Amino acid sequence: MRSASLITSSLVCSAMTSVDRANYVPTPSRAYQDSPQPIGYGATISAPHMHAHAAENLLPFLQPGSKVLDVGSGSGYTLAIFHHMVKPSGKVVGVDHIQELVDKANANLRKDGLGEALEGGSVFNVCGDGRKGWESEAPFDAIHVGAAAPGIPQPLIDQLKAPGRMFIPVEEQDGSGEQNIWQVDKAPDGSVSKEKICGVMYVPLTDRERQWRT
Ligand code: SAH
Repeated sequence: MRSASLITSSLVCSAMTSVDRANYVPTPSRAYQDSPQPIGYGATISAPHMHAHAAENLLPFLQPGSKVLDVGSGSGYTLAIFHHMVKPSGKVVGVDHIQELVDKANANLRKDGLGEALEGGSVFNVCGDGRKGWESEAPFDAIHVGAAAPGIPQPLIDQLKAPGRMFIPVEEQDGSGEQNIWQVDKAPDGSVSKEKICGVMYVPLTDRERQWRT
């Protein structure tokens, strides 16, 4: 990805190099394919080029010491990447609405050498409805959303720092079924601007019962 200029930042490059995707996918032999892969419960781990794209996009707000919210933390892979970018003093908060995925992600993070970060609280991954953000840890320098919402949830905008940035896939409500990444910036004066970045295909940011029936 670096030689293809998908990654241009050395911080993103070293973070992605520090994380072994084999610890986060169900089939380790396919870990290094640049494709999304099912992780159970109606969820997928996104393709590495999307994770690189997200990290590059959020880079100004994913610096050592930054506080990050990862909505739809899934496999835990993005928590690990963001942790390596914001350590040693930053904090990464993950929210997923499937408890089994939260447990699996935390086990994946331990396998990947981040047990101490979990114990120490610099990585914190919990079960909840990510559309509400995670109020008690707000505000966040950066918010990454890993599932496509039918709009940009207001609590997430509210929980962004000024300045801060959110990277969010949105399912357009024009009947096209199209999804796009939106970059939402909050300026130092608190004003919010939005920019459409590119077309994507993500699993929906939805109700737990709609995604997975036990
Ligand atoms: N970045 C993750 C993406 C996983 S797929 C990865 O690459 O592994 C998207 C995730 O969003 C799924 O794990 C799904 O359970 C979660 N999700 C969907 N709707 C949600 C909601 N309302 N609240 C929290 N998590 C949600």
